[in-house]
Amino acid sequence: MGLSADLRKQTWEIVNKLDKAYPEAHQELNFSTAFELLIATILAAQCTDVKVNEVTKNLFKKYPNPAAYVRASEDELRSDLAGITFTGNKTKYIKNCCAMLVSDFGGQVPNTVEELVKLQGVGRKTANIVLANAMGIPAIGVDTHTIRVPNRLGWVNTKNTDKIEQTLCDLLPEEKWHRGNIVIQWHGRYTCKAKKPKCGECAIFDLCNWEDKGLYS
Ligand code: SF4
Repeated sequence: MGLSADLRKQTWEIVNKLDKAYPEAHQELNFSTAFELLIATILAAQCTDVKVNEVTKNLFKKYPNPAAYVRASEDELRSDLAGITFTGNKTKYIKNCCAMLVSDFGGQVPNTVEELVKLQGVGRKTANIVLANAMGIPAIGVDTHTIRVPNRLGWVNTKNTDKIEQTLCDLLPEEKWHRGNIVIQWHGRYTCKAKKPKCGECAIFDLCNWEDKGLYS
């Protein structure tokens, strides 16, 4: 069944309200190139952005390109990632990912989801985050907030990230994908929290379909 014009209108209205409520909303991982954002996003899986930013401050200086990560020993890279969750796995992902960037992509970050997801440690979420934030290519990265918020609002009734991405892409005009994604994430992180949502302070309370919203002030 197709998505209704009413739902589309309501979605745009909510995204516009969130945009006004959070003019400061932005990608919180620090980066200056697509490659840096790729590394930061791999490191950010189940880790805080604050911790990742702390570690990447020196990491990006020491490893300016994929070849630098390939040259480093696993032990050295692991110790440079100290403080990041799942350091062992992420060390391997980054080494393998960078080896493929060098061998298959001339050391450059590819600019399609299909190519990006071939890299180890990179799923659709990471691929879309890199495309949208570092390359200006419209895309929606479905993280934990982008699962929870649209479910509470009643836009979707699923935790399947592919379905959520597809639905959001259908609901929002392409030029709103990136900003919509950012403000939904920001709303989820700071207001519509998993455990104690601040429904009493919510800019879109009247438009929210979550049956429990009245329980939280
Ligand atoms: S009313 Fe509560 S549950 Fe609904 S969007 Fe706002 S914070 Fe989230």
